Amino acid sequence: MRYGAIEAGGTKFVCAVGDEHGNVEERVSFPTSKPEETLQLVVDFFHDKQITALGVGAFGPVDVKENSPSYGTIGNTPKLQWTDYPLLKELESKLNVPVKLNTDVNAAALGEYMHGAAKHADSCLYITVGTGIGAGAIVNGKTLQGFSHPEMGHIVVRKSAHDAYPGNCPYHRDCLEGLAAGPAIEARWGEKAQKLYHQDEVWRLEAYYLAQAIMSYTLVLSPGKIIMGGGVMKKEGLHHMVQQELEQLMQDYVPLPENYLVPPGLQDNAGIVGALLLAKEAQAKGKEILS
Ligand code: ADP
Ligand code: ZN
Repeated sequence: MRYGAIEAGGTKFVCAVGDEHGNVEERVSFPTSKPEETLQLVVDFFHDKQITALGVGAFGPVDVKENSPSYGTIGNTPKLQWTDYPLLKELESKLNVPVKLNTDVNAAALGEYMHGAAKHADSCLYITVGTGIGAGAIVNGKTLQGFSHPEMGHIVVRKSAHDAYPGNCPYHRDCLEGLAAGPAIEARWGEKAQKLYHQDEVWRLEAYYLAQAIMSYTLVLSPGKIIMGGGVMKKEGLHHMVQQELEQLMQDYVPLPENYLVPPGLQDNAGIVGALLLAKEAQAKGKEILS
């Protein structure tokens, strides 16, 4: 079956055609500009691809409740032109195929769970550390969801006594994202994260904050595996530093599984592979409606 997948990010929309096994035939990306402009490019790309269904992993906040009237509509985002944009409904009506949408991190978690680093685990958590911090969890084979999708990037962490940076989250200032996402690193140290590889203190502090978050996720969810991706995690050795900090913080209270903290098995494709899986679910749903 031929499916369409979109990873709808704040800076770019990645569109792909592939199958439910995670094989990607073709992929392109478009800048995230005005909703109408971006959607036109997306629709033009899929126009002659003969896809059966479409899956979308979207930046949030976004309504992910399938029975909600605003399912697939973007919420209050700093990208103001996208606030209240009914992304799923627009795609469904313009492409005329069933569409299923979840958050970008939930899609990536699903991709890694089915075909990536967590394919042998019973449950997993995927966290991205990039322009923002977000995480999605797969529990009992499903994405974890309550009244909305989790917002695990905004948890409270204990501030280091050596850190004078106040944090930059517009809502909470010094939450995890406000202290440890890429822009916070850049604002604190005056250089982009990728230019700070030689400064050990940058990464010790980063690992300290990330390990606190991983400790909380571990204690609350007990996931079989934690996959850490996103631009900031490209820093070589950072996974290992977080692991060491985590062991320090945990004090053997909970023995951790082997190879617990790992990079994505699908590299930068986790979100797209997850979106292909969402497309498969959308197709199954489409059949249900028809019968
Ligand atoms: P996004 O979160 O927008 O999807 P990324 O995951 O690439 O994009 O995250 C971008 C952030 O990651 C930026 O703040 C950038 O400084 C940081 N970053 C990108 N590449 C690297 C790298 N190789 N090493 C460390 N930090 C990086
Ligand atoms: Zn916050």
